[in-house]
Amino acid sequence: MFTDELNLQNHRVPCTLFCPLCDNCTEDEWHVMFDCSRTKQSWRITALLSVIEPWLQKYSNIQDVIFDTCCVEDWVTVGKIAILMDALWKFRNGMVWNGEKTEVEQIDMRVTQGLNVWISAQQQQPVMDNNNIEAKWFSPLQNRLKCNVDAV
Ligand SMILES: [Zn+2]
Repeated sequence: MFTDELNLQNHRVPCTLFCPLCDNCTEDEWHVMFDCSRTKQSWRITALLSVIEPWLQKYSNIQDVIFDTCCVEDWVTVGKIAILMDALWKFRNGMVWNGEKTEVEQIDMRVTQGLNVWISAQQQQPVMDNNNIEAKWFSPLQNRLKCNVDAV
């Protein structure tokens, strides 16, 4: 069960506790991402079920599965898993908020397209001539904050 649903129920807002995808089990993040029958179809059709299954047997929380997967698997597999999990979350939300029914084949197509875009983006090298760029720091505008995220 998600925290939002608990909060809604505590405020007497009626909402279902069942998974919107299978309408058969109590919904939580583990169920939506790994254990739902509809979700498992997506892992299977994207050829990622065999990759993720050992982690599912080893862990019982989603954070550990994601962390270990990222540490062990190659970057393309990790990217594909991330794209699939994003697609599954959107699949679930589309069902809950818009009543959209997404077929497993559509998720597979989204993962393939997303992976191609992601790989292409990873392989593009930024064209920069660092010799001609002088790094200068400029103060932010008045009443603004500035956060430097690329400091070395
Ligand atoms: Zn389900």
